[in-house]
Amino acid sequence: MNLMRRAVLGVADLPPVHRLFERNRYARQLADRFVAGDTLESALSVARDLAGEGITVTLDLLGENVSTRDAAAAAVGSYTETLRQMKANDLEPNISVKLTMLGLDLGDEVARENVTRILETAREVGGFVRIDMEGSDYTTRTMQIFEQLHDHFPKEVGIVIQSYLHRAASDVVDMINRGARVRLVKGAYAEPESVAIQSRSENDENYERLMKHLLDKGNYPAIATHDPALIEATISYARANTIPPDRYEFQMLYGVRRNEQLRLKRAGYGMRVYVPFGADWYHYFTRRIAERPSNAFFVLRQVFDR
Ligand SMILES: Cc1cc2nc3c(=O)[nH]c(=O)nc-3n(C[C@H](O)[C@H](O)[C@H](O)COP(=O)(O)OP(=O)(O)OC[C@H]3O[C@@H](n4cnc5c(N)ncnc54)[C@H](O)[C@@H]3O)c2cc1C
Repeated sequence: MNLMRRAVLGVADLPPVHRLFERNRYARQLADRFVAGDTLESALSVARDLAGEGITVTLDLLGENVSTRDAAAAAVGSYTETLRQMKANDLEPNISVKLTMLGLDLGDEVARENVTRILETAREVGGFVRIDMEGSDYTTRTMQIFEQLHDHFPKEVGIVIQSYLHRAASDVVDMINRGARVRLVKGAYAEPESVAIQSRSENDENYERLMKHLLDKGNYPAIATHDPALIEATISYARANTIPPDRYEFQMLYGVRRNEQLRLKRAGYGMRVYVPFGADWYHYFTRRIAERPSNAFFVLRQVFDR
């Protein structure tokens, strides 16, 4: 599994491949399955449709690894506007941000100041900001910045923990101790053995262990997975320990297991869908493809067949 992911992400990062796919209109059409559109208006429209079914959202403006302060400032402007527009559209203001889109490559201080601007707006509109977790080169800095922000914005900011990281169990304990809201995911990047579990079954076991810990002691954890066995394990564990459904929520990605999203919602569980939008879809799209080898073959066939 991990070998396949490494291969797909490695090839996708090669500049000629990036150019070929980004300009290919069939690749773009396939990306549309996972991306709500280029504009905030298109994301709001998807969010309103989902709200009609009782499903909440977190909106993600696509983009990562900006290299100028201007690009980071532009992302701050887009995100504050997103929070305000969600509020204006009677949607719960909830966004997901990546620190490398907010200037982390330019220095911790740049990213921290930029997220602070966004958190001030979140506080104004009663919203919430989740800091996504990126590749392991950024984990320590992301956790440190998160903790500093959480001291000032305990209600408005939350973090993501990737169960494949060897450090995940210790991070979960730290986050439980500070009462921080955690989204638990398996992890989407190609990581070396020194930092991450390589086998799918071991990662699943670790995910289940951390899920139970978060259900027992965490602050409104988000169980973010499409994995049927882990979803079932969550429901059973919560039931057996009389943890009511309003103490946690499930999260899934836009375009993945839509029927399951509806089924869980109708069964009385909180369901939040992560809705990405924006023109910078390529890297997000390749991570979704790498998660499922059959998706990769499908994409290659579509692009080269035409
Ligand atoms: C709300 C949300 C936020 C996330 N945020 C982050 C983050 O900040 N950092 C990070 O590293 N990762 C993040 N991820 C991605 C995560 O780490 C996994 O890579 C991704 O969720 C796939 O793992 P899985 O738990 O669904 O299990 P898997 O074992 O990968 O999948 C289980 C089943 O789900 C279905 N499925 C899963 N993925 C796909 C797909 N792409 N296309 C079609 N079907 C699929 C298949 O039926 C599959 O058998 C996030 C995921 C979610 C749901």
